[in-house]
Amino acid sequence: MPHYQPPLRDMHFVLDELLDLNAELAQLPAHAGLDATTVHQVLEEGGKFAAERLFPLNQTGDREGCHYDAATRSVTTPRGFRDAYQQYVAAGWPSLACDPAYGGQGLPVALNNAFYEMLNAANQAWTMYPGLSHGAYECLHAHGSEAQKQLYLPRLVSGEWTGTMCLTEAHCGTDLGLLRTRAEPQPDGSYRLTGNKIFISAGEHDMAANIVHLVLARLPDAPSGTRGISLFVVPKFLPDAQGEPGERNAIGCGAIEHKMGIHGNATCQINLDGATGWLIGEPHRGLNAMFVMMNAARLGVGMQSLGLTEVAYQNALAYARERAQGRSLSGTKASSAPADPIIVHPDVRRMLMTARAYAEGGRAFTSYVALMIDRELNHPDDAVRREAADEVALLTPIVKAFLTDNAWIATSEALQVFGGHGYIAEWGMEQYVRDARINMIYEGTNTIQSLDLLGRKVLMDQGEKLRRFGEKIRHFIVAQSADPAMAEFITPLADLAEKLVKLTAEIGGKAAADPEEMGAAAVPYLRVAGHLVYAYFFARMAKLSLTRAAGGDPFYQAKLATARFYFARLLPETAMLIRQARSGAASLMAMDFS
Ligand SMILES: Cc1cc2nc3c(=O)[nH]c(=O)nc-3n(C[C@H](O)[C@H](O)[C@H](O)COP(=O)(O)OP(=O)(O)OC[C@H]3O[C@@H](n4cnc5c(N)ncnc54)[C@H](O)[C@@H]3O)c2cc1C
Repeated sequence: MPHYQPPLRDMHFVLDELLDLNAELAQLPAHAGLDATTVHQVLEEGGKFAAERLFPLNQTGDREGCHYDAATRSVTTPRGFRDAYQQYVAAGWPSLACDPAYGGQGLPVALNNAFYEMLNAANQAWTMYPGLSHGAYECLHAHGSEAQKQLYLPRLVSGEWTGTMCLTEAHCGTDLGLLRTRAEPQPDGSYRLTGNKIFISAGEHDMAANIVHLVLARLPDAPSGTRGISLFVVPKFLPDAQGEPGERNAIGCGAIEHKMGIHGNATCQINLDGATGWLIGEPHRGLNAMFVMMNAARLGVGMQSLGLTEVAYQNALAYARERAQGRSLSGTKASSAPADPIIVHPDVRRMLMTARAYAEGGRAFTSYVALMIDRELNHPDDAVRREAADEVALLTPIVKAFLTDNAWIATSEALQVFGGHGYIAEWGMEQYVRDARINMIYEGTNTIQSLDLLGRKVLMDQGEKLRRFGEKIRHFIVAQSADPAMAEFITPLADLAEKLVKLTAEIGGKAAADPEEMGAAAVPYLRVAGHLVYAYFFARMAKLSLTRAAGGDPFYQAKLATARFYFARLLPETAMLIRQARSGAASLMAMDFS
């Protein structure tokens, strides 16, 4: 049976020691009264909910899956999901980082983010129900009319209603410009929506009284392509005069998908048969409004992958300590046993350390991005807010793609630690691998994230956002250059930073002559950028740990060991990636597939 222990010690290290949460919050008037102690108390309680309430439903939810009843077009979630959700709502968890004006607790994004890591580690399929609701909350909060906010936000904040994002159609996934769902204006100011959406997560279920679908559709006068897409709020039950769920709207679930992982989350075909909806924001500007939700969801998907990386690591570690096979190459370690535990073998340790390093690097990086979002939302100085927003925009595709690729690697390595037992359902490891796979696909595939990073965030911006983030890295490098103990971290960090600058210029030059060059380089480019970010955070964590390890706390020794492993074993991948990125488009485009 798998187990899960919330990684609270490492969260405290990252939030307090590495990122100085107290000082950050003190700059933000909305959070100035909050201290790290309160944050820790919330995380401790949140960790208990995740480990004690959600984790036991993870394997059972995977085995049972969701049930669809065609007669009523209803979906029943796996046993226990509904009760856990009601408990979650009763405890006020959905409102954690929401606006107090709508019943929220107004706590920082950084706290919510850490909470979501634990929820996802415990049960990704379950966590998608409240996760999507939070995205819908953010979108309506940013773009809804006052009346829409008053109606929907308090109910999304309390968790009484849940939300979805309805973009995908059978012929239209990545290329949203192809979407066909129509919205016709009605005399009363509402719209009548007709069309078919597919793959809608949490599109139908039995967990909440109403479902608030955010639907992309075209108005009759819409220009073609992405410039003709509008966003609508389409509730499952039309709210009555008191805002309570009233008449059933003509939007419903036609089927649910049978799929590789996240079986406890209902992936729905959603049919709109003249459903009533209301426009959110400006006509034809729906994609712009939906980007709020999509960006939140991209960070959310990164957190799904971080959770899976952590839980897979914890289980592989426990197994490697117990499982006895063979003898250590350097001589017997467990002389009273017929064999040594497999943790003595160098390659088993490589697999464990890979998962551990990706978990710790990912936690430091995503906590930083979450704090930048808090700055972007709440800092009193406009210029600071804008700078934080630019940084979040630059780093979001890296969070989404780098963390999800790493989780695929990490869960697979963690499974491998179990040998054949990892492939057997009982141990839970194969579920982590299956669940991790979708994260590389939805919310914009990782290819699309890479094109977004290299094309839009770096080249279209003449490298300005990248240069400003690079300045932070450069300052750190300069500040550490006199410390010989930091050389093992700073030298490779500085080397990679320089190589990324050169690589960016080279691809930019080639792409100006042939745009295929950008498409050919984007995926390895994002991975190089991801490694640069991780190298920066591991170097910063190493700096702290070098100073604090002298106190004898084994936590800091372990942190240093992980940082050293990262630089020795994972970062060198960048040499190959840079060669791939530089190799150009020719070898990809030469084949005549006809
Ligand atoms: C379990 C699950 C849950 C989902 N949940 C939701 C949801 O809640 N709401 C929702 O709206 N959607 C959801 N989706 C849909 C998901 O976001 C899409 O599957 C995804 O965006 C990719 O679209 P597609 O499947 O049509 O693939 P396609 O767009 O057909 O892409 C196929 C391949 O071509 C590549 N490709 C496509 N265009 C380009 C390009 N321009 N350049 C380079 N490569 C390209 C892609 O990277 C991919 O590898 C979900 C999907 C699944 C499987």
